[in-house]
Amino acid sequence: MNISYSAIKKFLDCPHQWYAQYFLGYKQPYNAAASIGSRVHELIETNGRGTPLETPLEEHEAQRMYKEIVGDVEQLLVGDVHKEEWVSMPFGAHKILAKIDVFIKNNNHIRVIDFKTGKWYNEDPLQLKFYSWLLWKNNPKYTNYKAMLYYLRLNKKYEIELDKDELKRFDKYIMDVIHRMLMYNPNEPQFKIGNYCQWCPYSKECPAIKGGNKNE
Ligand code: SF4
Repeated sequence: MNISYSAIKKFLDCPHQWYAQYFLGYKQPYNAAASIGSRVHELIETNGRGTPLETPLEEHEAQRMYKEIVGDVEQLLVGDVHKEEWVSMPFGAHKILAKIDVFIKNNNHIRVIDFKTGKWYNEDPLQLKFYSWLLWKNNPKYTNYKAMLYYLRLNKKYEIELDKDELKRFDKYIMDVIHRMLMYNPNEPQFKIGNYCQWCPYSKECPAIKGGNKNE
């Protein structure tokens, strides 16, 4: 099994939503905003190149957004810049992995940046901690991290710093979460109702939604 930030987030939101999407094949419907977001990431990675979207209107919107933010983004990308790079580590028969938008190595610290193209601002440090932790596990010599969610449309930045102690604390936390994922028993499903239920592809069949139950 591949264990990514998205999978962890889904599991924490609602364990059975994670199980339905990653093991039962329930897929989220096509989302134009997500497609435009991916294309903007590609434009940043390839300095304005890559494969245009099939829908001209979506491509136009991605190009417009890219041109609007490219100057600000370039100012951040100075030094030993790694763009859209996969970072992974084995975990038994499984693999923990992340494709990180940008990380920049400096003498004794690493800066991590995740670009957000949506309209929502959210100060959730989980993704930043997960990326920093995975980089640290790959290269323990780097013990200081500055990690940022950069909301491109809103021009807002949410930044955290992590040192060795924080990384060790997160190590314990995330290992516990991953163990719970690996031990998940679909015969005893765990449901957790939340706002995300409206986007859950399993919602039409979900007994918790039908019965109005909450199992947290
Ligand atoms: S509808 Fe909500 S409670 Fe049910 S599986 Fe999906 S996320 Fe979980």
